[in-house]
Amino acid sequence: MADFISDSTKTHWMVSNPKRLIRTGMDGKPFRCPFCEGNEADTPPEVYRVGGGEVNKPGWQIRVVPNLFPITDVHEVIIHSSEHEKDIEDFSLNQVENIVKTYINRFNILKEKGKVFIFSNHSLTSGASLIHPHSQISVIPNNIPTNTITMQPVVNIVEQNSSFESYCPQYSEWSYEVWVKALGQIKFGELKVNELTSLANILQSSIKKLKKIHSGNSHYAKKPFGYNFYIYPYDSWYLRIIPRFMERAGFELSTGIMVNSVEPKKASEDLKN
Ligand SMILES: [Zn+2]
Repeated sequence: MADFISDSTKTHWMVSNPKRLIRTGMDGKPFRCPFCEGNEADTPPEVYRVGGGEVNKPGWQIRVVPNLFPITDVHEVIIHSSEHEKDIEDFSLNQVENIVKTYINRFNILKEKGKVFIFSNHSLTSGASLIHPHSQISVIPNNIPTNTITMQPVVNIVEQNSSFESYCPQYSEWSYEVWVKALGQIKFGELKVNELTSLANILQSSIKKLKKIHSGNSHYAKKPFGYNFYIYPYDSWYLRIIPRFMERAGFELSTGIMVNSVEPKKASEDLKN
């Protein structure tokens, strides 16, 4: 069971979960990827799949399973595909659409249980413990305060399509972070087919642009390309992509104030080109 602990002022919270210390690949046993096709028995039984085949057998395109090492009591893993290394930037648009569709499906099923957070960690530089691309959905109990940034005003637009726009907000804590928001009043849990396609399109395109920035910068390229993204799915919902080009260091840890040396305006111009 997840143990939420507050500091003495009850303004900061952490979650303690010692079981995660022995996650797959960290326990000293020979590694076999639990997310690869054929290894379905290595995960808890699936709760959702896209594609063919029998439940808990090969043939799927996307698989959703409870997290074997959950951070919170409700915590699922969405395996992006059966490919061990390919991720959103490499997939067909249809596969990305199916991933987005899966987010919406799980959000609508889990939203009664607490506050739902959807996120993805790509590569070890972003904190992922398993390379095989996946997203996660974690539900935080309603009584635990969270500290998510609200949607920031649109400036420095990078791209626009029929339903969404991407931009680099003035309040950008990370170099080249990209935010995606809907153009109209669209609820995340009620996205229609054409809107879902637009969202998949702009998500994929944003990650591709970030990958180009990474490979074109000899300092960033010393480390593998990594990023996190998350979706805040409630009122004024948004998707935020955070490339992990820079590390957090002593200043940030001691002050709680982030340092970003790339101006958001320059970031958006670089991303556009
Ligand atoms: Zn794998």
